[in-house]
Amino acid sequence: MDKKQCKVKVVIRVRPPLRQDEKTCVSATNNNVQIFNHRNVKENIQYDFSAVYGMESTQLQVYTDCVKPLLPKTLNGQNVSIFAYGPTGAGKTHTMLGTSTNPGIIPRVINGLFEEIEENKKTDTEDWKYKVTFSFLEIYNEKVQDLLEPSGSDLPIRENADKNILIPGLARKEIHNFEEFKNAFGPASNNRTVAATKLNEHSSRSHSIVQLTITKSKPCRTLHGKMYLIDLAGSEDNRRTGNQGIRLKESGAINKSLFSLGEVVDAINSGLPRIPYRNSKLTRLLQDSIGGTCHSVMITNIAPEEKYYYDTYCTLNFATKSK
Ligand code: ADP
Ligand code: MG
Repeated sequence: MDKKQCKVKVVIRVRPPLRQDEKTCVSATNNNVQIFNHRNVKENIQYDFSAVYGMESTQLQVYTDCVKPLLPKTLNGQNVSIFAYGPTGAGKTHTMLGTSTNPGIIPRVINGLFEEIEENKKTDTEDWKYKVTFSFLEIYNEKVQDLLEPSGSDLPIRENADKNILIPGLARKEIHNFEEFKNAFGPASNNRTVAATKLNEHSSRSHSIVQLTITKSKPCRTLHGKMYLIDLAGSEDNRRTGNQGIRLKESGAINKSLFSLGEVVDAINSGLPRIPYRNSKLTRLLQDSIGGTCHSVMITNIAPEEKYYYDTYCTLNFATKSK
């Protein structure tokens, strides 16, 4: 058995400024980000990462580099998780979902999976059958809510004898192409919140989670792969974490799941023997899909404008600690 422990890959994405006349404080190269504090011109902090996607980076580039290479792994029964981390307004939803004319990771993954399956079918020497299903849920105030078939109840997270994590009662929909995904996902997105005015507040506090399961089977053999695509809650609630260099437990405003995810990623990437998965709903759910032999990527989104300097500074400190 493959005992190789996979680290969580931490990359940075800087969005372009939203207005031409805004002052910016971020500059990026392929492996490095610098931030400038205009109040103290001597302060110019540099961070190194395995990959940095600058303001001109495209949706296709981020997908092709960070996510596409992981599709064959999921098709062969491995678990994968992709997260967008960062403060509200830094580009998480753009990166994960994008728009109809400029699609992000989620639609590209769905298309990519079906393409990959078609390619496999051409070259498979045995008669494998493929099945793709998806679930859509969110974690809000440590409550797990089904967005495909909302019930209003907090769904339990369980572990079975094979150490697979399950949510009994969570709706799962089989899809055969992108259209079917879109037709189910679009209306379900509206279940995230009723009042549009509260959308921003809600999305900044909840984790939006697409779970894909891919089953590849032939007589007497079945492989189950899972892929999580997660638009995390805004990290501004946790800003003091990065600032003080310790994982802080303080105000009620702190998002427990986001805080715990930081601890889990730190533990995995520092090679600790025990990973604290059980401290939050998000990390408990991800227990079978991050760490171990699973492949994970944390895309850290930052905004370039000077007015977000402090958020950017805290986010980069968090990402540096996690890498
Ligand atoms: P978040 O989900 O982190 O709160 P959004 O994805 O909603 O942030 O992005 C905030 C704004 O910035 C949106 O108007 C979005 O369209 C825009 N934006 C984010 N990333 C990019 C990008 N890479 N290129 C162009 N516009 C972007
Ligand atoms: Mg968002």
